[in-house]
Amino acid sequence: MRGDIVLTPIGTILAEVEEPLDMPLGGLPAVVEVYPEYVKGLKGIEENSHIWIISWFHKAPRDKLVTSPWKVNPDLPEYGVFALRTYARPNPIGLSLAELITVEGNRIYVSGLDAVGGTPVLDIKPYYENDIVFSPDTPYIRGKQRETRQKLMTRHARTHHREDCNDLHMAVRMASIAEDIFGKVNSPEVSVFAVGSGCLADCLQGLTRGRLAAPPRFDYMISDQEYSSIWKKGGQTLIIKAQKNVGFDNIMMLDDEVLFHIELK
Ligand SMILES: [Zn+2]
Repeated sequence: MRGDIVLTPIGTILAEVEEPLDMPLGGLPAVVEVYPEYVKGLKGIEENSHIWIISWFHKAPRDKLVTSPWKVNPDLPEYGVFALRTYARPNPIGLSLAELITVEGNRIYVSGLDAVGGTPVLDIKPYYENDIVFSPDTPYIRGKQRETRQKLMTRHARTHHREDCNDLHMAVRMASIAEDIFGKVNSPEVSVFAVGSGCLADCLQGLTRGRLAAPPRFDYMISDQEYSSIWKKGGQTLIIKAQKNVGFDNIMMLDDEVLFHIELK
């Protein structure tokens, strides 16, 4: 059937940012305000930690079929809009995964929502276990700045690890060094062996999407003596070992050389 489809918004987004160009990568905390006549439809939603917000990106250009993921890196080649999650597309439907913080009446408080204030909400769906593909193949859309790359990695690690601990930041720092040398760390050619806390190992597994088998790309050893990760790609081995005398409070601010002893062979 070709023809018009009429959709009626069920709510709206309340957020500090009003312009798509001002929306940071990874989204922001926001409130999904559901119109009173649809509130009954929220029954039971608080049992979910994550929800899909399907919205209408009302400020998006609709005349583009090809664009680049410029927010991540303006130097990257163009992709078709159906191969990207950019807001520009013929039907600017927003698909945003958000963490559900709490529900109060007709208001759902979420974090990490990539939709500006005033965005009409079309639908809300729970994120299910069945939605999880632990190690999907995805294009390598590399952030131009290291800060951008680390921000995206921090988001990935948080989504996987579900707590924001010091070792998560340590894992992000290790993975961004590995990425500088080996490229995409969740590529099938990269493997990692983690030594340290369970948190470090868990975050490195989340960042690399390395499984223990089929094929084995990840392994770990729990240690309270040493924090390190050994990365392999092709014939090369990269060893990143945390310096013993470094405090753990300031991990994102310190230089690589202050934090780690790095060896490539
Ligand atoms: Zn942790």
